[in-house]
Amino acid sequence: MVDNQLRRRGINNTSVLDAMLSVPRHLFVSKIYRSMSYTDNPLPIGQGQTISQPYIVALMTELLKVDVKHKVLEIGTGCGYQTAILSTLTKKVITLEVLNTLSMKAQKKLKMLGYDNVNCYCADGKNGFPKEAPYDRILVSAAPEIIPEDLIKQLAPNGCMVIPVGSLYDQFIYIITKDKNNQVHMKKSTPVRFVPLV
Ligand code: SAH
Repeated sequence: MVDNQLRRRGINNTSVLDAMLSVPRHLFVSKIYRSMSYTDNPLPIGQGQTISQPYIVALMTELLKVDVKHKVLEIGTGCGYQTAILSTLTKKVITLEVLNTLSMKAQKKLKMLGYDNVNCYCADGKNGFPKEAPYDRILVSAAPEIIPEDLIKQLAPNGCMVIPVGSLYDQFIYIITKDKNNQVHMKKSTPVRFVPLV
C-alpha cells in the first residue's frame, strides 16, 4: 500500500509514510471487508459511511503539516483510522463524530489499540469543540457546501485546516491557513469525493 499507492503518487513526508506503515488499517475495517483493508479504495464502515481510501488519508495528513507539539481537531471520526494516524503524529487529538454508534465503536477501538492521546466525542462537528479551542490543526473528513464559520474561529494563529468543500460531484480539498495576525488565507487543492457533512 505504502509503496504502490502512496509513494508512487507523490506522498513523500517520512513521518506520514511511517504513520501509514504503523497503523493496522485491517483492525479498523469490519471483518467482511478485512481482506480488502489495504486496497486502493474506500470501504463501508456501516451507517452509510466509509473509511477513506488510503491515499486520501495520507494526502490530507501530509497537507495538514502536523507536528508533535500540535493540538488537532478532527471532524468525522468514522471508524477512527484517520484519528489513529493523527494520534501517532501529534500531542493531542480531539475527534468529533455525529453518529453515536460510530463514535462509541471508534472510541473503544482506539483505546484498545493504545492510542491514548485521543478524546472522542459524539457531537456535530460544524460547531467545532469550543471547550478545547484554539486548535493548531483541523482536519475535516466530511464535506460541507460552505466552510463552517466556527471552525475558522477555532483555528489558532499560524493554524491550518484541511477540509473538503462542495457538493458530491463538485468537491475539492481546501487548505485554510491563519497567519500570525489572524488573517485567513484559502487555497484550493485536489478534487475529491467525501460524504456530506450533515
Ligand atoms: N476519517 C474517517 C472517515 C469517515 S467518513 C475514517 O477514517 O473512517 C466521514 C464521517 O463524518 C462519517 O462517519 C459521518 O458520520 C461523519 N459526519 C458527517 N457529518 C458530521 C458532522 N456534522 N459532525 C461530525 N461528524 C460528521
